[in-house]
Amino acid sequence: MKEIKILYLYPDMLNLYGDRGNIQALQYRIEKRGIKANIEYYYLGEQAPDFSSYDIVFSGGGADKEQALVAEDMQQYKEMIKRAIEEGVFFLLVCGSYQLFGKYYKGVEGNIIPGLEIFDYYTEAIPDRTKRCIGDIVIDVNLNGKQTKIIGYENHGGQTYDVKSVLGKVLYGQGNAFGAGQEGFMIKNVIATYIHGTLLSKNPDVTDYMIKYALERKYEKEIELEPLDDTFEDECRKQLLHRFLGEI
Ligand code: GLN
Repeated sequence: MKEIKILYLYPDMLNLYGDRGNIQALQYRIEKRGIKANIEYYYLGEQAPDFSSYDIVFSGGGADKEQALVAEDMQQYKEMIKRAIEEGVFFLLVCGSYQLFGKYYKGVEGNIIPGLEIFDYYTEAIPDRTKRCIGDIVIDVNLNGKQTKIIGYENHGGQTYDVKSVLGKVLYGQGNAFGAGQEGFMIKNVIATYIHGTLLSKNPDVTDYMIKYALERKYEKEIELEPLDDTFEDECRKQLLHRFLGEI
């Protein structure tokens, strides 16, 4: 039986707006294909996880307080994480974790949380606490040649700049910064985004992109995923796209 090994980092601290749902969506779509989803967790203070031994690593969003604690803890794993990314392990990073993988995060009070500096974008919060990018968002993305729309929800004060390789073009909502027109960061084996918990359940194309990538890397051959019955997902997406973009 094939298996995908997943690591969820700091599940008790980085789980804003149901980010854990991404793990559930992955598990659902993996198991429906008769593949074993082996999910492990890393909590702050535990023994170092062997990042390179996983197929997918997930890290979610957190409020500034949790983000500062996690950022400090994660620094010790910087080189291990870097190596795992170079080796091709897939990383899905949401909001606070997206910010942490960059150069730094400057908080509302001007305090600097150093990032892992794995990627060279950086994030600065607007000093006015009331100014946050909040709400539904739709972006246009290209996943390995397949054009699709990611639908989700964003809530961040941080404005991320200098993103060289973006995830998608904003069709509705804000994205990396107010009026930026672009959202997230993506390379073949990393998706970093402001889109919260609803990401993988609302966007089966993204979930399947990750599963296919992980399987092909692990088993070193091209793999066609068995199609699933997405009637509910499709209907939900149709209604949301109609609401936000006026699509029929
Ligand atoms: N504290 C960060 C911000 O507001 C991240 C918040 C989050 O993960 N939702 O930009």
